[in-house]
Amino acid sequence: MLAAGAAGAREAQFDLVHGESHRAGHAKAGRGGVASARPVPCLTWRSHAGRIDSAAMAAILVDIDGVLHVSGQPIPGAMEAVAELRRQGHRLRFVTNNTTRSRAMLAEEMRGYGLELDDSELQTTAVAAARALAGKRVLALVIAAVVDDLEGIELVGEGAEAVLLGGADETEETGRVFSYMNLARAFAELEQGADLYCLHKNQWWQTSRGPLLDSGAFVAGLEYAAGVEATVLGKPSPAYFEAALAALDAEPDLTWMVGDDLESDIAGAQRYGLKTVLVRTGKFRPDQLERTTVVPDAVVSSIAYLPEWLEQLP
Ligand SMILES: [Mg+2]
Repeated sequence: MLAAGAAGAREAQFDLVHGESHRAGHAKAGRGGVASARPVPCLTWRSHAGRIDSAAMAAILVDIDGVLHVSGQPIPGAMEAVAELRRQGHRLRFVTNNTTRSRAMLAEEMRGYGLELDDSELQTTAVAAARALAGKRVLALVIAAVVDDLEGIELVGEGAEAVLLGGADETEETGRVFSYMNLARAFAELEQGADLYCLHKNQWWQTSRGPLLDSGAFVAGLEYAAGVEATVLGKPSPAYFEAALAALDAEPDLTWMVGDDLESDIAGAQRYGLKTVLVRTGKFRPDQLERTTVVPDAVVSSIAYLPEWLEQLP
């Protein structure tokens, strides 16, 4: 288990393996970096990845859970790294699939960890849902805390035009929200023609107690039962990345996505044309990286090393 990124602190800081070098353990260390002593997965530095012409021009989307903290434990050096990225002139947007806290609550929580950010810099899935489902009658199975962000949606118990599933959290509220009775109600609405949406479709997430089952399992269950396909509103949906780039007035090929989730963060961002950095914290698993066909542009031990890594780019 990688606890809050500490495991990587004395190991490799930057792992970049050029495409020609498919030799495990052949890592190129950045300035101040240390080549990994253990084998690292073969990573391809995509020549078309478009190294940024000027560090000050880069836009950076930063995932929160698993990148800045794990279960409320800040990752060592993460907040300082964000401050340094700002000092370097990068434009930042914090992009989260968190579905259990309102934007205001999340922003306040992050400030409590020492992160400098304004509420408006934080993009949540509920805010995306409010935009997508504005004016509709919606049966929402979501944690109560995010209801404030569903502004403009008419929440109903039956006769819905859309069913919206949120995410799970570590409290017992999850059991109530995704009770058999509620899931059966959602199924009935789908049978009567409602469309299925979800804030995300994550399989699991990393907590200080270990991996926990996420609500993607409930989404998949309803898809299976009702014979429908859910529209995902959070990462890795194109709409989510589009909204983030629009907020920064950024071009995809000049934007980096920094995340710990190979599918939601890395693959999703790549499909939208962004460059990607995978961190070895949070839900990162070395064996997953070895098995996947998803190839991030770079892997760093933790976001703590990102400013230094960006600076050493030609
Ligand atoms: Mg994450």
